[in-house]
Amino acid sequence: MARAGLHVRVIEGSETAGGGCRTGELTLPGFRHDICSAVHPLAAASPFFRSIDLAARGATLCTPKVAFAHPLDGGRAAAVAGSVEETAGGLGRDAGAYRRLFGPLVRDVGLTLPEILAPLRSVPRHPLAMARFALDGLPPATVLARRLHTEEGRALLAGVAAHSMLPLSAPVTSAFGLLLTMTAHAVGWPVVEGGSGRLAGALLAELAALGGEVETGRWVSSLDELPPARAVLLDLTPSQLIAVAGDRLTGRHQAALRRFRYGPGVCKVDWALSGPVPWQAAACREAGTVHLGGTLAEVAHSEAEVTAGRLPGRPYCIVAQPGVADPTRAPAGQQTLWAYCHVPSGSAVDASGLIEAQIERFAPGFRDLILARSVRTAADLEKYNPNYVGGDINSGAGTLLQTVLRPTPRWNPYRTALPGVYLCSSSTPPGGGVHGMCGVGAARAALADLHISPPV
Ligand SMILES: Cc1cc2nc3c(=O)[nH]c(=O)nc-3n(C[C@H](O)[C@H](O)[C@H](O)COP(=O)(O)OP(=O)(O)OC[C@H]3O[C@@H](n4cnc5c(N)ncnc54)[C@H](O)[C@@H]3O)c2cc1C
Repeated sequence: MARAGLHVRVIEGSETAGGGCRTGELTLPGFRHDICSAVHPLAAASPFFRSIDLAARGATLCTPKVAFAHPLDGGRAAAVAGSVEETAGGLGRDAGAYRRLFGPLVRDVGLTLPEILAPLRSVPRHPLAMARFALDGLPPATVLARRLHTEEGRALLAGVAAHSMLPLSAPVTSAFGLLLTMTAHAVGWPVVEGGSGRLAGALLAELAALGGEVETGRWVSSLDELPPARAVLLDLTPSQLIAVAGDRLTGRHQAALRRFRYGPGVCKVDWALSGPVPWQAAACREAGTVHLGGTLAEVAHSEAEVTAGRLPGRPYCIVAQPGVADPTRAPAGQQTLWAYCHVPSGSAVDASGLIEAQIERFAPGFRDLILARSVRTAADLEKYNPNYVGGDINSGAGTLLQTVLRPTPRWNPYRTALPGVYLCSSSTPPGGGVHGMCGVGAARAALADLHISPPV
């Protein structure tokens, strides 16, 4: 909006701007932890972030050699690193199947990614490439995994598909796994030097350079509190829109917003460690991200339990070790570690013991390295940022219906029923993650209504 020449004022409830991109010393002095997002394939691939000279604005992306690894018992692991060919080379009997699956998808990534990171409601500009992605991505991950033959290959797919926060038997779970793996080959899975907060810092610098203003420490509870504006873009989820708009919304629109479904929550843990995690499998020691949970069957069981409202005994966990690519996060020789597991929505249970048991399973001796830990339950996360309803870090379930018709079945997903008021949060397409494309879609809708051409 600022690039289009409008005066922009950002109002943020917290004392610091940044939402899911903040970094802080959560454990001990000198240990810099990403409070929410840590790993940024979506920012690296996003047309919006690519339009900003991030390094010049203070955010340097550091890409680990191994994008993600998935250990199994007995010191085995599968990993995605470098090109499709390099990764296939490490997958033994699954090399051919991996090449056949990812070769065409990665070849076409430049065509499909911009369409996947936009509302899926118009005729695709590259129908053949998109049809291939859709055909592979639509089935559940448990079905796509049948194309792989080894326990390692199947676990690798399960671990990346489980980012969907859905049971792996649900449609479109494959699409999450494919998309994230495509980004691993196309741009890597980087962390931000010094922490994700610098990405928010880069956006603030960009906005300031364009004459925009930011006001922090002001929670908005009603649209009536906002200054007059030609367009109001709300970084809120549907339930918060109902709360701030009050009686202004028609009953019909309120009913549509109430049908929006949130996903499960997460329990997030950060550790200060006296040294690197002693993973048994070498690939995990070089990976920025490690997916834990064992075999495909175990990961599928864990995700099914969470969906059924139960905390699994051996949860699927996502672990990020930024120190692999960014030595600035901790004092020399020491490390920060970041992890979460999926938990039932709104859970106030501290799952750190279960997550530590999963890490210890694949990295014996891990517990001996712990200097300090910080835990945020799903309930804590919602208190920290009301957009994480019930601890749902994607601000809405990634079901098939809500992949296509997110947040409501309106033709333009960013427009609300109130003229001049738009939703720009990750409850809108393309959904959760740090990519800025929800904001781009909302800004385009607002500019179109104001008859202002969008900036290139
Ligand atoms: C633990 C965790 C780990 C994650 N890991 C990753 C990852 O590794 N990679 C990745 O790409 N994504 C990750 N995500 C997801 C990512 O952070 C979010 O998808 C993204 O931040 C969503 O952006 P957003 O603009 O929709 O909302 P947010 O970033 O949540 O921003 C919303 C902002 O609005 C403010 N706000 C809300 N209500 C009001 C109000 N009434 N008045 C004033 N201000 C208000 C909030 O304080 C917040 O600053 C993670 C999220 C969490 C919580």
